[in-house]
Amino acid sequence: MMGWIVGAVAATFLFLGYLGVPLLPLVVLTLIIAAVTFFSSTSGGRLGVGKKETIQTNESVPNLTFDEIGGQKRAKNELIEALDFLIHRDHIDAYGIRPLKGILLSGPPGTGKTLMAKAAAHYTDSVFVSTAGSAFIEMYVGVGAKRIRKLFTEAREMARKKKKKNAIIFIDEIDVIGGRRDGSQHREYDQTLNQLLTEMDGLSSEQDVRLLVVAATNRKDMLDSALLRPGRFDRHITVDLPDKKARTHILHLHLHTKPLSADVKIEKIAEETFGFSGAQLESVANEAAIYALRDEEREITQHHLSLAIDKVMMGEKTDREATQEERERVAIHEMGHAIVAEFVQPESVAQVALSPRGEALGYVRHHPGSDRYLYTREQIEGQIMILLAGAAAEQVVFGNRSTGARNDYERANQSAQLLIESGLSELGIINPDWIEKSSLQAEASRILSSLEERTIHQIEQHRHVLERGLYLLLKDEVLQGDHFRQLLAQADEWVR
Ligand code: ATP
Repeated sequence: MMGWIVGAVAATFLFLGYLGVPLLPLVVLTLIIAAVTFFSSTSGGRLGVGKKETIQTNESVPNLTFDEIGGQKRAKNELIEALDFLIHRDHIDAYGIRPLKGILLSGPPGTGKTLMAKAAAHYTDSVFVSTAGSAFIEMYVGVGAKRIRKLFTEAREMARKKKKKNAIIFIDEIDVIGGRRDGSQHREYDQTLNQLLTEMDGLSSEQDVRLLVVAATNRKDMLDSALLRPGRFDRHITVDLPDKKARTHILHLHLHTKPLSADVKIEKIAEETFGFSGAQLESVANEAAIYALRDEEREITQHHLSLAIDKVMMGEKTDREATQEERERVAIHEMGHAIVAEFVQPESVAQVALSPRGEALGYVRHHPGSDRYLYTREQIEGQIMILLAGAAAEQVVFGNRSTGARNDYERANQSAQLLIESGLSELGIINPDWIEKSSLQAEASRILSSLEERTIHQIEQHRHVLERGLYLLLKDEVLQGDHFRQLLAQADEWVR
């Protein structure tokens, strides 16, 4: 098409030249028109408004089943139950049930919301059209709304072309366009959201193609209530971080295609990756394979997986050169954390490391055993003691502390606040809004200093473990959990 136009323009110029018409102004005008056309057709991101505008319709019906999503049993069941409305049209019509128009998936990043939407399209044999809230944001009023209209039209057209009865429109980061309207934001956002609501209101069971909008967010609290009301996104499904069983499942899914050594214990990796999302677990599997390749080993070992967990948790090793004095201090600090962690939660220390990663110069990797959602006062106090133990060890060995404990103190303060607000402090059950800030601060300080005293006492009793650990960390940089426990056991024997 483009070639044809260029050819026609060139022929016209030749003809005009032959007639003696001055060509320069015409050439300039033509160039300007060409530039404007080019930029308007290529601008606008995934949902551009020019001729080349496309919606990200990379797959017609995605080839992904719910079985390929690890964990999320409850979320998957809820979603499948909702999707059955789309599949069993006749039943739904016979009972006069209004069609399901929107499903909202909410949860932290990387937990598999996009995967769920794709599996939903596969399950319902629907074409899948995906986009993100940010694709609708433009400086010019009306552009976002136009893109929304186009999104719905293209989804319908695509379903007809592929001879499908259903289409699923997936909008990631819905909070970008669906945030609460309080009059303070750009008018453009309002118009885009209004258009989305209008399109959703227009969906009906009589249409030849049934559309279902699946949206994802990790800020459900930010969404405008108009989006969440019945008849719009009225099915809310929470997609949580995976628990240990789910992490094992996800790791199996991502490791089963890779060459694994017989020593690999996936359960152990699942235990050590508390708090990881599905995306982070996928990254652990991938990084472990890269480490194996670098070592020119045929199989991925437990050691490669352990390195991969560190990388995903703490970031890549950095070249920060610490002085000998800093290295000694960091080693003592981390040993302090490890000693108290092992007393609070036996068998929980996976490794102590003295190597710079991300922002840290050293770190202790320990796991909480079983996943927990509720904590008693003793458990929170234990967590605070682990946090205070780094600086306490510095105090015991060097007689002073460093700025390295800043982040520990921040988290210890948050935990003290949690104790107070949960009615687990000496203040009893309180409403924090009705109490003087200074009283809250005094109670937090009291909690922290009494726990610090206990922590210092515990560290003093294990001074020789600190020193032995210091020697090993300076020599090898890493002290594995089992080796560390041997040191503690030997020390206990000497004491006896
Ligand atoms: P975001 O909110 O950041 O868009 P998301 O919740 O949509 O994230 P996905 O894009 O679905 O997350 O997941 C990213 C990748 O993480 C997937 O491609 C997959 O490799 C992996 N993953 C996440 N959750 C799971 C899971 N439950 N089972 C298997 N793999 C998962």
